[in-house]
Amino acid sequence: MTANELTIVKSTNLKPKPEKDQIPFGSTFTDHMFVMDYAEDKGWHEPRIVPYEPVTLDPAAMIFHYGQTVFEGLKAYRADGDRILMFRPEKNLERLNRSSDRLSIPPIDEDEVMNHLEELIRIEKDWVPATDGTSLYIRPFIIATDPNLAVAPSKTYKFMIILSPVGSYFSGGIHPVKIKVENEFTRAVKGGTGMAKTAGNYSSAYQAQSNAYKEGSADVLWLDGIEKRYIEEVGSMNIFFKINGEVVTPALSGSILKGITRMSILELLRDWDVPVVERKISIDELYEAYERGEVEEAFGTGTAAVISPVGELNWQGKKMTINNHEIGELSQKLYDTITGIQRGNVEDPYDWVVEVK
Ligand SMILES: *Cc1c(COP(=O)(O)O)cnc(C)c1O
Repeated sequence: MTANELTIVKSTNLKPKPEKDQIPFGSTFTDHMFVMDYAEDKGWHEPRIVPYEPVTLDPAAMIFHYGQTVFEGLKAYRADGDRILMFRPEKNLERLNRSSDRLSIPPIDEDEVMNHLEELIRIEKDWVPATDGTSLYIRPFIIATDPNLAVAPSKTYKFMIILSPVGSYFSGGIHPVKIKVENEFTRAVKGGTGMAKTAGNYSSAYQAQSNAYKEGSADVLWLDGIEKRYIEEVGSMNIFFKINGEVVTPALSGSILKGITRMSILELLRDWDVPVVERKISIDELYEAYERGEVEEAFGTGTAAVISPVGELNWQGKKMTINNHEIGELSQKLYDTITGIQRGNVEDPYDWVVEVK
């Protein structure tokens, strides 16, 4: 056996699965997890699937001090005939490596990790829930493990994949939400880490988000960090507007996370011959279009919710009510198409879906 062959240790103490209507988000985990280690002399080595259990780390482990870490989020769905499908998982592993590059973490072998991920899903397939809207959330992540307080990249890392059955993001179907346009705090700037899925980007957003909740909003719309003018993202989702028949989404500026849902929507719209552009769009321009009655739809996009319609935007005392707080026709069609492809109910001419056999 070589150091790069997958080993599997099965749990002898299987956990009960959650009731199908009571699946909390992200707090229930399956029986097994994937682990692999990195050392300078060995590279990534000892890939293994082991019973889910706590990890032991030195208190000086670098992840605790300087946040050298990256993560991904994707899902496995149960389709008719008990087939298990993943949505564009290779894009997530590609992005994990792009994030790692930004954080000075060594790259993984995407093809090998894809095989290990499929094996993990195969072992845990009974954990993939079947009800509409539910799925098995997949969380790959890497942490720096050197016990060393020097401010420098770690020489050792741990890569892990944990799995969590999740319920429907919206109980009772998708519904438009109220969003606050954030004018004080910044999520990311060009040259920073906004394009990477790395821990600090999320905890640094909590303060703005909790202020928004207090004001009755579900999340914040981030503007660019320099001029506070150009629209970037909503919460942890990319954002789209339909203005006078044309779909607009902010161009990837270096501070925006390149969502796989965003990419899929762009591909679908182009395929449907719906006019769509990726460009800079300022909040002033949006408000002017709103005043002319041209803002027809707005929606956030991401793996968790797929499409999250925006019913209202609040920008420094100015309120924009979008599509009368109703789900737009295009938002609904995109939601139905993507969730249909993910669950195997809609034909997948793009080869987006990977079946775990
Ligand atoms: C993950 C994420 C998204 C959405 O990406 P998907 O690949 O579509 O899930 C958008 N913005 C941020 C900040 C994110 O972390």
